[in-house]
Amino acid sequence: MVEPLEARIDPHSGNPAMRHYDVSPGHPPYESRARFLGEISGSWRSIGQQVGQQAGDLVRWVADVWWAEHVSKYGRQDTMNALSLYEAQVAALDPGLIEFMEGVAEGAGEQLDQSPFAGDISHYQKVLNTNIFDAWSYRHPTATPWADTEPGDMGCSSFATVGDGPNAAAETIATHNRHCPFNPKCYQLAYVGRPEGGNAYWTITPGGAGAGCQIVNDKGVSLILNAGGNLHREMNGDAFGVPWFLLFLTVAAQADSAAEAIDMITRGTPAYRAQTKRNSLLRTGTWNFLVSDRTECAVIETSCDRYAIRRPGDLGEIGNYLVMTNHCTCDHSFNADNERTDLPMTRFGDAASNPGSARRFEILMQDLARHHGRLDSGLAQQLMCGHHQYDETGTRLESPDGAAGFQFGGDVTCPHRGEYPHAPEGGSADAKVVVSRQSGVEANWTLGRPCEWVGPWDQVLFGKEFAG
Ligand SMILES: [Zn+2]
Repeated sequence: MVEPLEARIDPHSGNPAMRHYDVSPGHPPYESRARFLGEISGSWRSIGQQVGQQAGDLVRWVADVWWAEHVSKYGRQDTMNALSLYEAQVAALDPGLIEFMEGVAEGAGEQLDQSPFAGDISHYQKVLNTNIFDAWSYRHPTATPWADTEPGDMGCSSFATVGDGPNAAAETIATHNRHCPFNPKCYQLAYVGRPEGGNAYWTITPGGAGAGCQIVNDKGVSLILNAGGNLHREMNGDAFGVPWFLLFLTVAAQADSAAEAIDMITRGTPAYRAQTKRNSLLRTGTWNFLVSDRTECAVIETSCDRYAIRRPGDLGEIGNYLVMTNHCTCDHSFNADNERTDLPMTRFGDAASNPGSARRFEILMQDLARHHGRLDSGLAQQLMCGHHQYDETGTRLESPDGAAGFQFGGDVTCPHRGEYPHAPEGGSADAKVVVSRQSGVEANWTLGRPCEWVGPWDQVLFGKEFAG
């Protein structure tokens, strides 16, 4: 049975500030909302083709910026070698993901033909390169050439609240702000995918990437990704593993619960383990995952081959909820053979090595405690627009009258990077608030910083009881 879908895309909504955000010379400005592609069903190849056909221009702009960046930073040959190494891991996890990328390349072919790099590498290799971006750029697994231009101040803010303890109603809310450089991540699309034999999912993502930092399926399983510990190089925490852009697609399609998703992200699937002779999933570096469904939530702190899981209550939560930013907190870790060890995940980067992340963590922890019992979709959207901080005594701090706000260069839930007043360089490339109920899933999103969005957030409802 095909489940119904209802999209609420208000023509009067949008982000008018998108026109100020950075683009490469010769590239078009961003649209005022992520392009909504509707519902896309079929094989992975077919889903990829339809994405490419409907958003070939977005696929091309993203591919061109990231291919040029990789060649310039790491060299053409090393990047080509890296593509093969990551691709082998993706194929071991789910060959359907390779077909998805081939489909995107086919569907976007006419646009990719017009790229100045069209004769340089194949369209498929360009799409594959898009899908290794966060891994190869931010969790670079080789010592040379190491271009030390990692944006150390970029991180994400997220939380999940479960049930009618933290929330006003019996539902789960999972939300995320993706803090990153805007160019080219704001060439974004959103859609509901229905892969053959798998769960339907919603995601918002830069053109050609498998998924952005949040995906949710029709079972209510939400996956959120933040950059994790910042000492990954010192701790050899990076590897040519499975890039998370694609990992998210296969986990959303296959996992019917948070527990199943956690198992796939930590141990991998039986087919992956058989193919690679590993006992766990090889990831690409230090990433934090926030996984939730209608009854539970968990944060998985990871390196390429270690992980630990924290739960509500471990860090002073007063109910069934979790906040996640960009540092590690666990005092132990499981190794590649899933054995518990005394090596703490905090060695990969903790509150002391990443004080900005710690500050943003405290802001949302205070917010959730203060609003405990009252949270709903609208309040969650307000919190993701937050420009306030708290001091050590818990006093809420706002910017003084007449001063540039804390959000300009500060550690807040909705930061603004780049010069005042437009801050064109970075901040939230998108914000999402996903609500999972027995009746189905509601996904709300913005393009760009949520504080700049005008009108109701773009929204889809999908799941068994939405009659459209
Ligand atoms: Zn803001």
